[in-house]
Amino acid sequence: MYDAVIIGAGVTGAAAAWALSRLCANICVLERTEDVCTGTSKANSAIIHGGFDPAVGSLMAKLNVRGNEMMDSLCEDLDVPFQRNGALVVCTDEAKMGELEALLARGIANGVSGFRIVRGEELFRMEPNLSENVTAALRAPTSGIVCPFELTLALAENACQNGVDFHFHAEVTDIRRDEKGLYHVKAGGTEYVTRAVINAAGVYADEIHNMVSTQKIRIRPRRGEYCLYDRALQGYVRHTIFQLPTEKGKGVLVTPTVHGNILAGPTSDFISDKEDTATTAEGIAEVLEKENLSVKPLPGGRIITSFAGLRAHGETGDFIIGEAEGAPLFYDLAGIESPGLSSAPAIGEMTAAWAEKALGLQKKDHVIEKRTGIPHFAELPIEEKQKLIAKNPLYGQIVCRCEMVTEGEIVDAIRRPLGARSLDGVKRRTRAGMGRCQSGFCLPRVCEILHRETGIPQDMITKCGGNSRVVVGYTKGEKEPRDREDGRHPHEEM
Ligand SMILES: Cc1cc2nc3c(=O)[nH]c(=O)nc-3n(C[C@H](O)[C@H](O)[C@H](O)COP(=O)(O)OP(=O)(O)OC[C@H]3O[C@@H](n4cnc5c(N)ncnc54)[C@H](O)[C@@H]3O)c2cc1C
Repeated sequence: MYDAVIIGAGVTGAAAAWALSRLCANICVLERTEDVCTGTSKANSAIIHGGFDPAVGSLMAKLNVRGNEMMDSLCEDLDVPFQRNGALVVCTDEAKMGELEALLARGIANGVSGFRIVRGEELFRMEPNLSENVTAALRAPTSGIVCPFELTLALAENACQNGVDFHFHAEVTDIRRDEKGLYHVKAGGTEYVTRAVINAAGVYADEIHNMVSTQKIRIRPRRGEYCLYDRALQGYVRHTIFQLPTEKGKGVLVTPTVHGNILAGPTSDFISDKEDTATTAEGIAEVLEKENLSVKPLPGGRIITSFAGLRAHGETGDFIIGEAEGAPLFYDLAGIESPGLSSAPAIGEMTAAWAEKALGLQKKDHVIEKRTGIPHFAELPIEEKQKLIAKNPLYGQIVCRCEMVTEGEIVDAIRRPLGARSLDGVKRRTRAGMGRCQSGFCLPRVCEILHRETGIPQDMITKCGGNSRVVVGYTKGEKEPRDREDGRHPHEEM
């Protein structure tokens, strides 16, 4: 029996698992897909927000500010790339200066300091590629950028190091509370019995909540589309450049990523299908048009990919966090849209404080605080590279030429706790396939390595679980790819 079952292995569930792993308790995470970080946590702006946007007094404001404060030491402990690059909210219309001043006042009311309005030469010295229409900007120095995959994976790995069980291909389809008050959670053909349930199911958190609560909630997916630019444009902007927020959200931003790309987006459109992460011609056109309002035109030929993520929009305008009505010890982490990534560690902390009290748990005497990430070979000084190759010659084999990812890194990504089992799993952990050719060159090599390390036959290796197999037939005709309904090979469960 578990003390708590966490549903969902996005950044919210992973942060809850990380924080709860500090308590003497049996905890597990149930994730319907094949890996950690396969939902919204993999497709967002990757900003650790400065705390000037959420409404004063809201959970969003409190948890954003606390999460931002926690980020330096957390990322150091978990070996996750994080930079406080600062944000500029630009104003292109003097008549709207009042809105900029209001954002500044809101930031201060939310407990953050250091904001300042910047104008003229000083502003263009900071960011020479701002659009000439920009007249002033609010500078938020504590805003930052993080790698959302590495943050989510690192939280989950550290939770795993500290005893949390992870079950993949475990889609929760039913939850029942028995007469003793225990929850029976059905997932992937197994029934998990637990004292408490923590609902971190992203856009599906309403469906999980509505299985047990007397007060129903609704989560609407709101899609945001992006264009990602090549690292050749590194330095085009250093700050995250926001436009003034509108009723549709924070608007289209232009930002560097921690890995040196430039990211522009997102759009903001309600859709009905919770699986629809397709990009559209209209969405991309909107990003391209709006990015030009804040920066000088970016060269379109440098776009290397586009992608979309789904905001889990609740109806309260705030995060929905707490025990669900009519379901004691069922704790919702629902409606976690932006600033959910920034708030995740604080959401984890808040959830652990609730669990400690509600379940009468003690803190552990010994916790593994540090996690070591996969070495990023390309970023190491030459002496470190040589040492690594001398220790393990696989670091001397470049597999992804665009991002200079070595076989050593890919093998580490597969062998470490909660290791990769799909091509995207390898990509999120190592960046193999994230570069200009978008895996055109390295895909067959990564397939071979996955096969060698896990035993998964090459025709069963998937891009991202389910039926997303990449080998669809044999040119020599002697074998057919095997067909299982879920497209999954038993080795994938390793
Ligand atoms: C366009 C966009 C831009 C954003 N930009 C930012 C930003 O810059 N900064 C910021 O702070 N926040 C940002 N956010 C918000 C942030 O990305 C989210 O708040 C955060 O990723 C939500 O994480 P999550 O774990 O709650 O959801 P997810 O990452 O979606 O995780 C939910 C998990 O639950 C699993 N699941 C669902 N149903 C079941 C089931 N029945 N059984 C088992 N598992 C299930 C899913 O497979 C998934 O893995 C942005 C969001 C979007 C869409």
